[in-house]
Amino acid sequence: MAKKLNIDCSCDDSVGYICGPHSKEKLSQQLLPCPFCGSTNVKLDNLVDADDFFVSCGNCEIQQIANYSPETAIARWNRRNAAAPQKGETNG
Ligand SMILES: [Zn+2]
Ligand SMILES: [Zn+2]
Repeated sequence: MAKKLNIDCSCDDSVGYICGPHSKEKLSQQLLPCPFCGSTNVKLDNLVDADDFFVSCGNCEIQQIANYSPETAIARWNRRNAAAPQKGETNG
């Protein structure tokens, strides 16, 4: 039985069809807590009209440099979490 998320749509995770918002929410569940403040209020997002994905923290409001794919954004976020925090790396 597919887990229902709080978005009203007709996609069905059990058959592998997931809409955009649900896909992002599902991917966000792979994210580790914020490396700067430890908050789990982190989310994957993308720029409007662009395939640039980034992870942001809803607590300390740090935002990742945009990445080409959601998978890359998640990998970089989780890798940074494992490494020593680097303050100020919010913009290119
Ligand atoms: Zn959906
Ligand atoms: Zn944070």
